[in-house]
Amino acid sequence: MMPLERATGDADTRRARIAATIRDDVRALGTYAVAKADSWIKLDAMENPYRLPADLAAEVGAAVARVAINRYPDGEGSAVQAALRASLGLSPRAALMLGNGSDEIIQVVTAAVAAPDATIVAPDPSFVMYRRNALFARTRFEAVPLREDFSLDLPAMLETIERSRPALVWLAYPNNPTGNLFDGAGVERIVQAAPGLVAVDEAYYAFADGTFLPRVLDFPNLVVVRTVSKIGMAGLRLGYAVGHPDWIAQFDKVRPPYNVNALTQAVLPVLLAHADTFARQAAAIRSERARLAAALARLRGVRVFASQTNFVLVRVPAADAWFAALRDARILVKNLHGAHPLLAQCLRITVGTPEENDALLDVLQRLRDAPG
Ligand code: PMP
Repeated sequence: MMPLERATGDADTRRARIAATIRDDVRALGTYAVAKADSWIKLDAMENPYRLPADLAAEVGAAVARVAINRYPDGEGSAVQAALRASLGLSPRAALMLGNGSDEIIQVVTAAVAAPDATIVAPDPSFVMYRRNALFARTRFEAVPLREDFSLDLPAMLETIERSRPALVWLAYPNNPTGNLFDGAGVERIVQAAPGLVAVDEAYYAFADGTFLPRVLDFPNLVVVRTVSKIGMAGLRLGYAVGHPDWIAQFDKVRPPYNVNALTQAVLPVLLAHADTFARQAAAIRSERARLAAALARLRGVRVFASQTNFVLVRVPAADAWFAALRDARILVKNLHGAHPLLAQCLRITVGTPEENDALLDVLQRLRDAPG
């Protein structure tokens, strides 16, 4: 066997090549961390905690067995599109584009607008991939701070739009990582003021009281982006954009031709035919969210922010210590302390099953009761 490094010279040469080849801003960037937590209580990634019922899992197995894996998938994902249209009651005048998760939709939409003189705007803090994709596409990104209570600073948004004339504005509706739903009238003002495209990202629509999907064709510059990840299908990697066919046709040119794999395409229509199962789970998660939020609010020194998502943002007395105590109990949440000044001492807790939430509350209660 060859030694891993034949000589230190090889490593030096490689490092020099990388430094001369990979962009400075990419080398300087941290990796988007995906935590591994096998057999832990996983409350960090906004997954639905419920697995498929056994009969549905068997149906999925049969659908997968029928797939011609030797063939490329349908480029447009026609069966998935038809199933989504039916389940969303989509207007026949609206068009759809599918993505490998809404992560890919964000990448495609960014690439379609990116240009040396283009600007992308989003409130801050919000979903980090808006900024990262702008950076990858070498496009200027302007982050407009939210208010202390995480509501939109509408005058600041409108001033930024007026000054920088952005090609694209991202609005997560509801917002991640804060969990709140921005004021709908404010969003509408932004859509009206924006000279370019406004993408309303409704990843958490199933847990929210507002949506722009029925109004997507009411404006000349609106697309709505969604995902099936948060409703119980994160493993399938399927996101979608809804908008006027003229917008979607442009994005479709940028999309890789076979971006949604054949197994996902076979499984999704089967699952969407059981939309009632997922709707029941979403309702259970919403009511569990209320119970979890109320119990967290009873802990001394904890502030719970209102949530329209499947997670709850809390400000605690010592986020690093609380995160560590949970980790020691093999419970994983997201520590946002240090991510943004407005998120100081904040943890983001995904709503789990009642048992998982109880385990989390148990650890936190003992932490609060501990002397000192
Ligand atoms: N948008 C928002 C606001 C999100 O929070 C996330 C996931 N954290 C995504 C998009 C991406 O989701 P996915 O790629 O699983 O569809």
